[in-house]
Amino acid sequence: MNRRKFIKNTLTGSAVIALSSGYQSIFAADQRVKLTILHTNDVHSRIDPFPVDDIKYAGMGGVAPRSALIKKIRQEEEHVLLFDAGDIFQGTPYFNFYGGEPEVKMMSLMGYDAGTMGNHDFDNGVEGFVKQLPHANFPILTANYDFSDTPLYGKTKPYQVFKKGRLKIGVYGVCIQLDGLVNKEQFGNTKYLDPIKKAQEIEAHLKSKEDCDMIICLSHLGYKYDTDKVSDVVLAQNTSYTDLIIGGHTHTFLPAPDNIPNKRGKKVIINQVGFAGINLGRLDFVFESKISGKMTYTSAVEPVKLFSNFNS
Ligand SMILES: [Zn+2]
Repeated sequence: MNRRKFIKNTLTGSAVIALSSGYQSIFAADQRVKLTILHTNDVHSRIDPFPVDDIKYAGMGGVAPRSALIKKIRQEEEHVLLFDAGDIFQGTPYFNFYGGEPEVKMMSLMGYDAGTMGNHDFDNGVEGFVKQLPHANFPILTANYDFSDTPLYGKTKPYQVFKKGRLKIGVYGVCIQLDGLVNKEQFGNTKYLDPIKKAQEIEAHLKSKEDCDMIICLSHLGYKYDTDKVSDVVLAQNTSYTDLIIGGHTHTFLPAPDNIPNKRGKKVIINQVGFAGINLGRLDFVFESKISGKMTYTSAVEPVKLFSNFNS
């Protein structure tokens, strides 16, 4: 029995009349889901916008306009996820005075769904990061730092699965090698594990065991390098099921997401939106029926600007 017939058969006579002209579109609406992904990276303690006399970024960034922009998008869209790709800390006196507490509290208030760790998030040592975690109402995802011999043990997660409509979205985090980038006293006994190996392990789990419709990586590896150093591009080439890499670390302003073929020849979307909260990254995905498995997307770089959201 096909589904249309089944519904006809189970509805009462009057309900069939009421639905008879519109049930095709009800089916379409039931199967198609739109998912909006918003993201930041390397915000670096930029709570205030850049000064209005700044040569490059006059009046750009700032938590208040970012928060207003996120709120507006959340009012317009049903399914929204908000992520950060690391380096929350360091860059303004706010961090030097308050150790990251306002940054993390504001991210919680803005409704971040998850974040990962950047090298600068170790700037007050592992203990300094642990101290701010009670202010985070979102998980910190990192799959390739082994914290078992540090105070961060058990306080981060390798991945998290989110449910939006009928969709299951698996999100994991991969982070940069700390040796040579961060003082040993700051990262302590944190062990760096191969990000590609961990990514492959987790994406396979999210695909086969968790049955995710979409797999997202929050990465602080950096967009790409001239050397053979592992980057988002290298990660994309070496994975099989990751659909989107939200990157950070290299402060790259991508005008549009990059598309890199993975191990199976399928394109992986890579995006990064500069630094300092100047822009909010936005990707709108449309998932057609589960059977077709078709997914399309549009992207936008949303500038975060003082008063820009208060025009009306
Ligand atoms: Zn970094």
